[in-house]
Amino acid sequence: MKSNPSFESSTRNQRPETRNLLTHTRNGWYCPQGDFYIDPTQKVDRAIITHAHADHSRWGMKHYLSHHYNEGVMKRRLGKDISFEGINYGEKRHINGVQVSFHPAGHIPGSAQIRLEYKGDIWVITGDYKCNDDGLSTPFELVKCHHFITESTFGLPVFNWESQDKIIQQVNDYWASCVAKGEHLILTAYSLGKAQRLLNLLDRSIGQIHCHGAIVEMNRGLEESGALNNCSKDFHDYLPLKDFSPKNGETCLFIMPPSGISDGFLKKLKNYRTANCSGWMALRGRQRWDNLDKGFVISDHADWKELIWACKETGAEDIRAVHGYTEVLERYLVAGF
Ligand SMILES: [Zn+2]
Ligand SMILES: [Zn+2]
Repeated sequence: MKSNPSFESSTRNQRPETRNLLTHTRNGWYCPQGDFYIDPTQKVDRAIITHAHADHSRWGMKHYLSHHYNEGVMKRRLGKDISFEGINYGEKRHINGVQVSFHPAGHIPGSAQIRLEYKGDIWVITGDYKCNDDGLSTPFELVKCHHFITESTFGLPVFNWESQDKIIQQVNDYWASCVAKGEHLILTAYSLGKAQRLLNLLDRSIGQIHCHGAIVEMNRGLEESGALNNCSKDFHDYLPLKDFSPKNGETCLFIMPPSGISDGFLKKLKNYRTANCSGWMALRGRQRWDNLDKGFVISDHADWKELIWACKETGAEDIRAVHGYTEVLERYLVAGF
């Protein structure tokens, strides 16, 4: 927690004390006034979901409120009969006197920061976010607030992302070098978010892309809900993995979730290289540790400077970090911007 000098203290004095508009419980973040949870970890009646990743959007809630882009993916993962209520960015709902709205988090398509307002006091919980526009997700929107609960997955100064264009160029170049040597390339990436980013940007003139079934499923869910409306014309130019059969001379790019690679599949390929696309690839030794030929540092989370920027620009007087390197980020904020 910290005091932000850019916050106007006059506003602070006029507001009632709502220290507990959001409070951390064993079920996740809870709003007692509104009687709802944000990304709950256990079964609850009313869940507000920031995005469809499995560690935020869990099974067993009586009612889900989330951005309507998430409906297709969430119903595929949690069951088509879940009680799902869709909402747009910027649209307002009032729940037991608390005004609730969703604002783009730029993390993956459909991801949102949740803004709560009660008696003039404004809270924002980010879920996962990144501030750079990936060209597919609705870009991050900075929301002014008094209380800011930020993720800090990559909250260390060593995490400092290069531009997306530069990294994609590196992936294309590496893929082309594999093709030139007659090698397939297995690119591991999360099936929701990262895989779509790659499909949106990789250069199809290099070769054929095959996607693991889990990624194909996510694409269907996103498309059904309109979350791929901004995608490039090449996005859908790929084949499902099940349609792959090794032919003489043809080398392909396989986009796979890390858990989707079987020994049988690797045997079929014979000549191949492996690479991973993740922010964790920024850690020295990680590539070797994961037994990869190559690591590309491309993340759907904010890096250190984005986290600091967001914390500062919200104007929040009260900042809490959750996930990842929370202490480092909080200590830095206490020391001053
Ligand atoms: Zn996420
Ligand atoms: Zn997460």
